Amino acid sequence: MSDDYDLLVIGAGMAGIAAATKCSSQGWRVAIVDELPYGGTCALRGCDPKKILRRAAEVMESARLMRGKGIDNGDLSINWGELMNHKHGFTDPVPQSMEEDLRAHGVHTLHGTATFTGPTSIDVSGDTYDVSKVLIATGATPRPLDFPGQEHLIDSTEFLNLDALPPRIVFVGGGFVSFEFAHIAARAGSSPVIVDRGARPLKAFDADLVELLIDRGSEAGVEVQPSTNITGVEQTNDGYRVHIDRSGTPATIDADLVVHGAGRVPDLSRLNLEAGQVAYGKHGVEVAGHLQSKTNPNVYAAGDSTDTAGMPLTPVAVIEAKVAASNMLKSGSTVPDYAAIPTAVFTIPELVRIGMLEHEARDSGLNVDVRYTNTSGWYSNYRIGETAGATKILVDKSNDRIVGAHLFGAEYAELANTISMAIKHGLTTRQIKSTTATYPSTGSDLGSMI
Ligand SMILES: Cc1cc2nc3c(=O)[nH]c(=O)nc-3n(C[C@H](O)[C@H](O)[C@H](O)COP(=O)(O)OP(=O)(O)OC[C@H]3O[C@@H](n4cnc5c(N)ncnc54)[C@H](O)[C@@H]3O)c2cc1C
Repeated sequence: MSDDYDLLVIGAGMAGIAAATKCSSQGWRVAIVDELPYGGTCALRGCDPKKILRRAAEVMESARLMRGKGIDNGDLSINWGELMNHKHGFTDPVPQSMEEDLRAHGVHTLHGTATFTGPTSIDVSGDTYDVSKVLIATGATPRPLDFPGQEHLIDSTEFLNLDALPPRIVFVGGGFVSFEFAHIAARAGSSPVIVDRGARPLKAFDADLVELLIDRGSEAGVEVQPSTNITGVEQTNDGYRVHIDRSGTPATIDADLVVHGAGRVPDLSRLNLEAGQVAYGKHGVEVAGHLQSKTNPNVYAAGDSTDTAGMPLTPVAVIEAKVAASNMLKSGSTVPDYAAIPTAVFTIPELVRIGMLEHEARDSGLNVDVRYTNTSGWYSNYRIGETAGATKILVDKSNDRIVGAHLFGAEYAELANTISMAIKHGLTTRQIKSTTATYPSTGSDLGSMI
């Protein structure tokens, strides 16, 4: 093993921290570097702060749904400043505690931008480290946009740090970030508009359930404009004018804030991967299934910065990092298991996907039974005043196992965890139905959904 470290991890997000800790615990000399405070996207700028803001929106929506059913929500409102303080109460201590935890595990923590100067040499703020192995875990960054005035947009990080929420907000792009933020903003009193160039947003999710989500969102004040291109954004005296083109017809939307929700791309621009002889493409660092670089055997990559089949999600980043660490430690070739990983859009209510979409199941030649259920009138929804809910479960008729599950409804992101476990461990729908849940609970609805 060589020189300064056995392993240098670039990026102290969930992937980087998981791999650094694992390799250090096996006796390797490990360093990790980040150019931003430690913690990465999920803890500081993504999942966790987002869901703290969503909590206030949930309370607003829950009270609204119970109006006339025992709750008078008259002057209930979100105090955005207090909500931000609540968020900071969680996020502010993260960098220090994560760094201390890494040090306690024997990992050297470095600060600065990492750049390859050779296949196994990395520059960090003027210091060069010669190492045996490198793990690239640099995550993702907002996709560059190409219309005039794109510099006026704020990104998801800035949205999650806003001191105040203005009334008119345009979200560019119909992905999960736009939907989640728009659902929060609507409950906080703003009028959000999601502009998406595709015929339908949230393409990775079940089309029927996305339609229900759009309808339910519009009831809550979230407007979606599909098949609409943004041709430019200009600053005006009191905000911004967003120029759009809807199927050939130009129009404008006036806004106080325009938010980038048009997807993220691997964040590789400062790494100088050419010097590291590390091949990469628009989907990230090119790795084999076991996460080793296709062109530099001493480099591995994990998380949002790679071109793996895994979705850009925190649990996937962690799984990949642990597998990459294990393969580095043992010169192994284990590949991550991506089966049955659930993904949720945390709108109110939420939308969930596990496994195959309906057309994917049919295209793959499976003989599937599509079990669609409108759950809006079920007791669980009646109890909370919720008006929307549906599930679509795809069951392989040949073995009675679930190959895809799509859920739209209150608390269904929790329900998804049970379904994910059932799929991963090969349970049949008969076996799932034979399991007893607490009653009354959303979990007890599962048997009737499948
Ligand atoms: C708004 C938002 C909401 C999200 N919500 C969810 C959710 O609900 N559930 C979910 O599962 N996922 C969610 N995600 C996705 C999730 O956050 C990512 O999949 C996950 O954080 C990826 O982890 P990572 O370790 O690969 O990268 P990151 O956590 O992004 O860490 C990469 C780190 O590398 C550093 N870095 C980059 N380049 C360099 C360099 N050259 N030198 C030094 N440091 C560098 C960066 O500063 C960063 O800290 C969300 C993302 C966003 C943006």
